[in-house]
Amino acid sequence: MTDHTADTGENEADMSSVPAAASDPRRRPKPDVLEIGGRKLHPSTLMMGHGYDPMLSEGSLKPPIFLTSTFVFENAAAGKRHFEGVTGKRPGGSEGLVYSRFNGPNQEIAEDRLGLWEDAEEALLFSSGMAAIATVLLALVRPGDVIVHSAPLYAATETLIARVLGKFGVHFVDFPAGASHEEIAATVERARGMGNVALIYLESPANPTNVLVDVQAVAEVRNELLDAAKCPIVIDNTFLGPLWLKPLQHGADIVVYSLTKYAGGHSDLVAGGALGAKKWLDPVRMIRNTVGTILDPNSAWMLLRSLETLELRMSRAGENAAIVCKWLAEHPKTEKVIYLGFPADERQADIYRRHCTGAGSTFSLYLKGGEAEAFAFLDALKIAKLAVSLGGTETLASHPAAMTHLSVAPARRAALGIADNMVRISIGVENVGDLLADFEQALAVV
Ligand SMILES: *Cc1c(COP(=O)(O)O)cnc(C)c1O
Repeated sequence: MTDHTADTGENEADMSSVPAAASDPRRRPKPDVLEIGGRKLHPSTLMMGHGYDPMLSEGSLKPPIFLTSTFVFENAAAGKRHFEGVTGKRPGGSEGLVYSRFNGPNQEIAEDRLGLWEDAEEALLFSSGMAAIATVLLALVRPGDVIVHSAPLYAATETLIARVLGKFGVHFVDFPAGASHEEIAATVERARGMGNVALIYLESPANPTNVLVDVQAVAEVRNELLDAAKCPIVIDNTFLGPLWLKPLQHGADIVVYSLTKYAGGHSDLVAGGALGAKKWLDPVRMIRNTVGTILDPNSAWMLLRSLETLELRMSRAGENAAIVCKWLAEHPKTEKVIYLGFPADERQADIYRRHCTGAGSTFSLYLKGGEAEAFAFLDALKIAKLAVSLGGTETLASHPAAMTHLSVAPARRAALGIADNMVRISIGVENVGDLLADFEQALAVV
């Protein structure tokens, strides 16, 4: 985490050597307050100020957007020191800002704040969720390595692992998301027979089946059968994080995000993130520096604004979803509702109790009938918009079999429960009575 006080060279010790304008008391940096009287402040409090000192930006309450491609060095020796950090010649990374492909103030403030939600040592921002995932994987695998992963994964992640990394001689083996300790161990044993297991990649809950992965069991298996210092557990926490699931607490090493969803939360930006210990993120940062998958300053600024309301938005969406799912499950035109609040069996209920503090707001509704009934329902919705994606302030609905999962082979679709009568819904922060009225009138049309 970078201290923006240090970046400017305007810290107290330097005051004597800087011009009069900088000795203006308004420009004296204040230390960040992380606790009061021994009470550690909650992330929802720290989202409004952590990592940014208004006095370094003319007293501007909100951070300016730093639109610059490069940063001026104090002197040549400082420039050399920065590059030693950036290139890895000196451990610890860059001490300040160098060039905007590496980092910028808006991105660093947002990274510091995002990391707080999961008590992560470091956080990195990326231009999309897929940029985050691709950069993490590129940093961790070599030709001949094997990736063990839970299945199913987000379609683009499956493509990246199987087809893109496959071209470079990286292999994979998968286990079903709900697998037991024994099943996960058997998969890891098989992978060990194929080559060096470079990482274990998880996504929980799986989309669109909503099956939870037992992260604690995966960590136990990894610690029993593999070298924990060399084989990290990476998990895509887009659906429940950072509020309802904190995988670093359950044995995962790197958490990746599509911040486009709940964290961005307004369906108006595309961004990704990776959180974890510095040891794991240093090589990821090196690849990000090399290829430039970092988020731009404008989107980073919007993300900062989103993080201020993250807890409010996610809590309200989660409460709305609980009410809507209960109502839909009891409706005569409903076949079933697949929602984390209604665990499918005792094993899933057990995983939920051990890992999650909330059921999220994205679920699958199976209507009685088939594609015609599902389409009639979707076309009749008046508040909920017909669009893919999730985690925004507005309620969205889509038809996975005909949209996001159209390219999945029919047999695999059937195995995943992606049926023609299935509708995927992400509940937003609207008035819940209005949402129920909308679903009621749309179901009446079916
Ligand atoms: C959307 C999504 C992604 C990809 O994120 P982008 O921001 O669209 O690149 C990855 N994983 C999950 C679970 C997602 O929902």
